[in-house]
Amino acid sequence: MPFDRIMISKRHSFSTFEPNMMKMRSLKLMVLTLTLMAMNVLNSKAQTIDVSKLKPASRTDTSFVVGSGDTQSHLPMIIFKGKEKGPVFTIVAGIHGYEYPPIVAVQELINEIDVQTLKGTLIVLPMANVAAFYGRTPFLNPLDAKNLNNAFPGSANGTVTEQIAHLISTVIIPQSDVFLDIHAGDANEDLLPFVCYYNNTSTPKQTALARTLSLASGFEYVVAYPYTLTETEPAKYAFKQATQKGITALSFEAGKLGNVQTDQVRAIKVGVYSLLSHLKMQSLKNISKVKTISLDNQVYIKVPQSGLFYSELKAGDKVKKGEKLGYIANEFGTKLEDVVSTADGIILYKIGTPPVNKGETLFCIGY
Ligand SMILES: [Zn+2]
Repeated sequence: MPFDRIMISKRHSFSTFEPNMMKMRSLKLMVLTLTLMAMNVLNSKAQTIDVSKLKPASRTDTSFVVGSGDTQSHLPMIIFKGKEKGPVFTIVAGIHGYEYPPIVAVQELINEIDVQTLKGTLIVLPMANVAAFYGRTPFLNPLDAKNLNNAFPGSANGTVTEQIAHLISTVIIPQSDVFLDIHAGDANEDLLPFVCYYNNTSTPKQTALARTLSLASGFEYVVAYPYTLTETEPAKYAFKQATQKGITALSFEAGKLGNVQTDQVRAIKVGVYSLLSHLKMQSLKNISKVKTISLDNQVYIKVPQSGLFYSELKAGDKVKKGEKLGYIANEFGTKLEDVVSTADGIILYKIGTPPVNKGETLFCIGY
């Protein structure tokens, strides 16, 4: 999902997603087993890795241990060290474990990357939220009911989600020249595929590169988010954390409503290869060029009251200010109110399933 702009209130999310005790126990057992199975599990005390020290033309599969006891899990990582020197490019998938096109695209990519022809280093976090993936949990990590994309910079001694955020913030981001976080519409989100970056004017060089990479990514819609974060405010989101630390960062959003969608898997792979090509880490031919549409402004339409939401509109539809977007009804079948657009623009994402809770983002409209 695009961040947690679709806020799930703790009360609702907990009652919806908290597995029962049986499920919880088997999930914990499974996560623990997977942790033990993970290759080269990094020593949990020395949870760090210096990618500059790895051998050229090598692939390293490893995992960090996160959480402890009942909430222990792992953070898998693959490092492709190219034969020749070059930038360090990081790809993260699965910050939200129910967003499948990024996870599947990265699974394909890691079997295609050839360290003999790679220049520089490619760090891949193929599944940042393992417990959410196996637990089939939208937005939240079922082990602590926290949203990883709301947890940055995280905490070394925090819950399992906060520890994952902390590792990415302190070990991965500082070693990256370019940081790409890949998301999709989550289980309930209808979404138009797009690439996005923060318009951080305090780091003009990095922001210019983020824009250039976005324009070269093959995605038609290029979204620039405003950036007003101070140096000490929590960034919350992974690629905002990287942006705050002066790293060139961007994000893909491709796929929707909890589906795998092979066309979006392909779009993500084309995007990653286009970036590798632009960074001269791989020489690739036949990268398709697309005409891009920049959306530098966004409005967020919030859910005015909880209920069932009905709408004929889809992500990608164009709307006008004042246009009726849909309506909310209660459980007794009574219509409560219409929802209208507050801007002319295109629907970037919307809640695509009936339940809506007061205060959540119902529509994000780009223009
Ligand atoms: Zn997401």
